[in-house]
Amino acid sequence: MTIKEYVAKRKRELKEEVSHFSTPIKMVIVQVNDDPASDTYIRGKIRDSEEVGIQAELIKLPVTTTQLELSTLIKRLNQDSSVHGFIIQMPLPKGIDEEYIKTLVSPAKDIDGFHPLSKFSPCTPLGIINYLKEENIVLDGRNAVVIGRSNIVGKPMARLLMKENMNVTVLHSHTFEDDLQFYVAHADLIVIAIGHKYFLNHSFSYKKDAVLVDVGINRVDGVTYGDIEPEQNVRLQTPVPGGVGLLTRLTLLCNLTEAYKNAFFHH
Ligand code: NAD
Repeated sequence: MTIKEYVAKRKRELKEEVSHFSTPIKMVIVQVNDDPASDTYIRGKIRDSEEVGIQAELIKLPVTTTQLELSTLIKRLNQDSSVHGFIIQMPLPKGIDEEYIKTLVSPAKDIDGFHPLSKFSPCTPLGIINYLKEENIVLDGRNAVVIGRSNIVGKPMARLLMKENMNVTVLHSHTFEDDLQFYVAHADLIVIAIGHKYFLNHSFSYKKDAVLVDVGINRVDGVTYGDIEPEQNVRLQTPVPGGVGLLTRLTLLCNLTEAYKNAFFHH
């Protein structure tokens, strides 16, 4: 099943599930920037929510907002029982400490999975794992290579793959070229998230039945490219666009639905 088909199917299932909820399910998106890329992501998140019957409210604050004002809003959202989950859209203005802000979001409502004690996994890595399982890709005991070590993708991806009993190698900007070639050639699964157009290309050799997951989003002259050149000779390669981005968006809705059910169960 393509990622598009899988996401469409999961959205239909979520819509059905949510339609049986006895009270409205709601998320809030807090934006404190004038960043056009953020605007696009937020529009997508709101559209997805509406599609499955989830309320999504955008709270847009001026870029002059102080850390104290933002903290006060977060505390209010933590306590508002009509809000089941919320996200703080990054980036935040200079003068607001992003890492500190992430720790203020209640772990029970942290549907982005950014709090160290969050009840949820970050959306991109979790979405990837769920899709690979749907495709019956065997993970247990196999070699995974994660290229990139960011807090939102690379690191949590490596952690989730270890949980699936994979042998995980994390490569990054200080990896030597020879080692990169070696690990890529021995990988059963490669997840790349570095933001470098066609970093993996036909100059590499891969296992014939390797699975390549492309997280990269590189916009050049209005066109979006992945971190992997299309049509590598492998078992499965996820496309960009129309690939991991869709899984990320889907997983936010899945996490919110879980948050709703947890809240319902505990009260
Ligand atoms: P980042 O931009 O914070 O960091 C880049 C990472 O890549 C670093 O860990 C660095 O060590 C590594 N890196 C840089 N150059 C490298 C090189 N030459 N060789 C090996 N490693 C190298 O990472 P991020 O926030 O995870 O974003 C990475 C890419 O993924 C970006 O293109 C971003 O737009 C995209 N992204 C996509 C989604 C999605 O849903 N599809 C979600 C998040 C990020």
